[in-house]
Order: sequence, then structure tokens, then C-alpha cells
Amino acid sequence: MEPKERGRVLARMAALILREHEALAQLDARDVGKLVKSTRFDVTILARYFEYYSGIVDKFGGDQIPLESGLTALTFREPLGVVAGIIPWNSPTQMFGRVCSPALAMGNTVVLKPAEDACLAVLRLAELALEAGIPPGALNVVTGDGPVTGGALTCHPMLDFISFTGSPQTATLVQRAAAEHHVGVTLELGGKSPHIVFADADLGKAVPIITNSIIVNSGQTCVAGSRLLVQESRLEEVAAAFARHFETIVAGSHESDADLGPLITLKACNRVNGIIAQAKADGIPVIAQGTLDKNRPKPGYYVVPHLFGPVPRDHLLARDEVFGPVLSLLTFKDEEDAIALAEDTNFGLAAAVWTQDVGRAFRVARKIRAGQVYVNGYGAGGGVELPFGGFKKSGFGREKGLEALHEFSATKTVIFSHG
Ligand code: NAD
Repeated sequence: MEPKERGRVLARMAALILREHEALAQLDARDVGKLVKSTRFDVTILARYFEYYSGIVDKFGGDQIPLESGLTALTFREPLGVVAGIIPWNSPTQMFGRVCSPALAMGNTVVLKPAEDACLAVLRLAELALEAGIPPGALNVVTGDGPVTGGALTCHPMLDFISFTGSPQTATLVQRAAAEHHVGVTLELGGKSPHIVFADADLGKAVPIITNSIIVNSGQTCVAGSRLLVQESRLEEVAAAFARHFETIVAGSHESDADLGPLITLKACNRVNGIIAQAKADGIPVIAQGTLDKNRPKPGYYVVPHLFGPVPRDHLLARDEVFGPVLSLLTFKDEEDAIALAEDTNFGLAAAVWTQDVGRAFRVARKIRAGQVYVNGYGAGGGVELPFGGFKKSGFGREKGLEALHEFSATKTVIFSHG
């Protein structure tokens, strides 16, 4: 397709998503168990992905490189070819937008494999893609489980690129399969993201935002702010403020106005409850916990949100991704110790610095090895415009923003020798 037509088709897709906004949000909430208000947000961001990349298609080009007279060099951004997208279940609609819209914008075709636990909204989006005028075959959705369907997809000899979002364990298999055919990959993996709360932080602002970052989607997000690092000198006041807020949190049905919904599966629910039980058995103090809505439908995979602390630096609560509504409070002495503690993890996806001191905010933000660092906040809408990805075991490659267009294309240099 010509660039301007490609842009139009993506813009039509954005319009169709907005037309179907409520139906998609309801379908996704039923499938994932997320609160409807949360899936409404996801669908808004999904539309925004298509809007954002539809507008860039005819403006994102190559370059001309200055050389000696007699030579003219031009660069072109070329599509990679067939892109496989493998996505998790926690935000299927946002993930669909994040992979498909930039890949299609750059002229690739996509084979998308949603997670076996949540694929209904993605299947509906595939129908809408045809209605939008995305040519049959340009965007394909293949459902199935990980090892069989995902495995077959990543081993396919006709693939040109793999965009994978999921667990570090699966990422190893995906990267190995990609190596067989020498195709590129981006890996968007997990996190153990810290909120660094200095003694001068604005607690009134910090407490609800930090708490939300661990209960949104019941803690099942890669960027969950799961480590609360608090300066020792203000520990009591900070812990008390979080405790008051935590005790108001209610887990309930996806259709209710609860603060969080159930987890995705019984297996996930048992795993997270097992981690909570283990932490209690290890003697880690519970600072506060939320409640379960007494009107919730039963049975259901609900987990009571927990705030633990102080958590020793070597405990699993300080190191492992829980992927549930569990916040771990740890303490630090000073700026240097805060950075060391924030860095004391294999992950490097996101972080936040809470302080009124601008100089300190800059220093700490620059030193933390994380793909995104927020100062006195966490999240920026869906962050469609912002490059996103990991350091360390959180993966590599960048999606979102203009950087995604580089990942989903390759530079071709053409040199004219004209005397
Ligand atoms: P997962 O790795 O089990 O599954 C992810 C996807 O990979 C699914 O579609 C699954 O079917 C597929 N898969 C599983 N085995 C496969 C195989 N052998 N070959 C090919 N594909 C296979 O992860 P999950 O439990 O669905 O998701 C949770 C993880 O995803 C967490 O670690 C979370 O932090 C991470 N995550 C990261 C981001 C990010 O952008 N960084 C976003 C969301 C989730």
C-alpha cells in the first residue's frame, strides 16, 4: 500500500475501535477479569495507538547523507517482512495496538498470537481490521497455547522478526528459536519496579498513585510498582499513610466499582496466595491489607491486597516478580543507598523517584537502570508516545513512540555514483 493509504486504513481502524469501544471493553473484562473501567482505559489506548501511527506513516522517511561530489547516498526505511507478535493475557487490547499498529505502519505483515487465557477481544479486533480495509493476510490472528502454537510460530522459517511480550522463561525459548533462523527479536519481559520515596516526598500525592500502581489489574502488570523504598527517617509516617490507604482497598467483581478485580486463573490465584502465605510464614510483618467485597460472585480468583514491610533485601518479596497485588516496603538511609537498593534487582523496566529536590530527582533518575523513570508520578496515560522497554532481565528493544518504527523496519542505503 502507498503510505497515505496505509495511514488512512490505520485511521479507519482507530475509528472502528472507538465505535466498538464499550463492546470491546465489556468483552475484554469478561475474558480477563479486569474491572470494566480498566478495560475501557485499555481500549482508549488501543485506539490511540492506531491514531498515533496512522499519522506518522507518510512523515517517517529516510535521509540523505552528505558525501563527496559525484556520490549521493539516500537511506530508506524498509519493512522487515513477516512479523510474529506473541502477547500475554494481561492487557490484550493494549498489546494488540502496541505491536500491530507500528508494524503495519511500516509496511510489514503481522501474525499475532494472543495468550490462551484471553484472546476474545483480539479475535474481534481481527474482524474489525478487515472492515477497516487492512488487506486479508496482512494481519493474522492465530490462537492456541504457548508450546504448540507459539512454538510453531517462532520456529517458522518464513518469519522475519518476533516481537515477544511475556515471561523471562518463555523469552529464552523464543530467543533460541529466533536464533535458528537469524531473525531479530524484541523482548518485553517482567519487572520489580521501585518507588523511591525520599523524606521530602509529597505523601498526599504519592500514596494513592503508588498504591494504584500495584493494584491496577490486580498487580498483573509488567510495570507494577511492587517495591516501595522509603527513607528511614520518615518510615513511621509513610508506613502509616500507606496503611490507612491500603485498608480502604476492595477486591471485587469486574463489573463492580471495586478497586481491583480477580486474577486471571485459579493457578495464578493459588500462586500469589502461596507467596503471601510464604512471606507470613517467614515472619515478614503485614503493615496493612485490603478486603474482599462481600457481594462478590463466588467462586472467584480474588486475592486480598497486601502491604508487607519492612522486607529484608534478600527475601523473595524484595526480588521476585509476584504478578499480584502485593507491595513490599523496604527502607534506605540516604541517596546513595536508595540507588543501590533500587538497582538491587535483575529487572529494569520502570521506576519512580518521589522528592521535592529537583537536583536529586535528576541525579537519581539518571542513575537508575530502567527503561522509564517517573519523577513524582507513575504512568503517563497509556504512554503510546513514549519509548518503552527494559534494561537487564526486563528485556531489550524499544516499543511505543517513534522508536517502535525503527524496531519494525530496517535501513537500506542506496549510493548513486554519478560523476
Ligand atoms: P508467558 O511467557 O507464559 O506467555 C506469554 C505468551 O507467550 C503467551 O501468548 C503464551 O501462549 C506464549 N508462549 C508460551 N510458551 C511459549 C513457547 N514455548 N513459544 C512461544 N510462545 C509461547 O507470560 P504470561 O504469564 O502470559 O505473562 C506474564 C509475564 O509477561 C510477566 O512476566 C510480565 O511481567 C510480562 N509482561 C511484560 C510486559 C512488558 O511490556 N514488558 C507486558 C505485559 C506482561
